[in-house]
Amino acid sequence: MLNKYQIAMNVVRERPKMSGFSSQNTDDIHLSILQELVEKATPKKIIIKDIKGSYIKFRIYCPTCGKIVDRTNNPYGNMLDIKYCDQCGQKLDWSDKND
Ligand SMILES: [Zn+2]
Repeated sequence: MLNKYQIAMNVVRERPKMSGFSSQNTDDIHLSILQELVEKATPKKIIIKDIKGSYIKFRIYCPTCGKIVDRTNNPYGNMLDIKYCDQCGQKLDWSDKND
């Protein structure tokens, strides 16, 4: 499913290029900014690392910037409220399905 950033990016990408010497470059810059938003808004699977011998068994990492976003004993359970990485804004996918 397309999110609003993907839709905006497709509009910019597919509209006719404006005439003028700088339009191509400007479009490329806008597209790369939009691409960044699309990636941040598309949920990415969290990285779960098992910590041996620790009271809290798992550390959860942001897949984009590598920051620890949570420590938990139940990575697919009650910590689903952390929707975004607070460092880079990446939307996080906590599902245990592989798709
Ligand atoms: Zn991050």
